[in-house]
Amino acid sequence: MTASSDSAGALAGVNQEIARACRDAKREPSSVTLIAVSKTFDAGAIEPVIAAGQRVFGENRVQEAKTKWPLLTAKHPGIALHLIGPLQSNKAKEAVALFDAIHSVDRPSLCEALSKEIARQIRKPQLFVEINTGAEPQKAGVLPQDANDFLKRCHEAYGLTISGLMCIPPLDEAPAPHFALTAKIAERNGLKLLSMGMSADFTVAIAMGATHVRVGSAIFGTRPKI
Ligand SMILES: *Cc1c(COP(=O)(O)O)cnc(C)c1O
Repeated sequence: MTASSDSAGALAGVNQEIARACRDAKREPSSVTLIAVSKTFDAGAIEPVIAAGQRVFGENRVQEAKTKWPLLTAKHPGIALHLIGPLQSNKAKEAVALFDAIHSVDRPSLCEALSKEIARQIRKPQLFVEINTGAEPQKAGVLPQDANDFLKRCHEAYGLTISGLMCIPPLDEAPAPHFALTAKIAERNGLKLLSMGMSADFTVAIAMGATHVRVGSAIFGTRPKI
């Protein structure tokens, strides 16, 4: 069996797990958006997942998304694209043009670039601020203790509307405390959306309030090593 013929079934399985996690947490299934993370997979692998009904997709690189998505979105109306990876300020223009949501807002220079492009293009992608909950030096994101000030600055200095927070817990730690911390920062700043949970832990994230789960390998299979 090829990866693509598996993926429709895998998608159905992930949707079932989301429904079950919602039931356990006494939440409406419609309160959780599944972002199918298609990074490294080509249009041929993505088509069957679209055919199976999935409409929200995530990519981590602007350049890669630009090469494969414009054709797919022209062919299949109603697709929403989310940028889940780090964004360089000099790619803000392309990102605002291509994506419906950006999950990696994490520094003033990027806020400034996004603010300019949003005004110029009259497009308003949904924005998430990334929190580096594990304070990992190699990882992007705002430190938890800086989050309140940064969120205030996004609004007051750059006029940006931030809809929610995103986090990627450290690989070698239990994710729940990181999800809880992110949810707490969101609550105290009046933010409703929480982008958290990947293939290994999206049901945990849903229990802790995730509104957006980013699931790649559980749908598309193991990614080829780059
Ligand atoms: C790749 C990636 C995912 C998906 O990871 P899986 O473990 O394959 O589900 C989610 N979030 C981000 C930010 C990613 O880069």
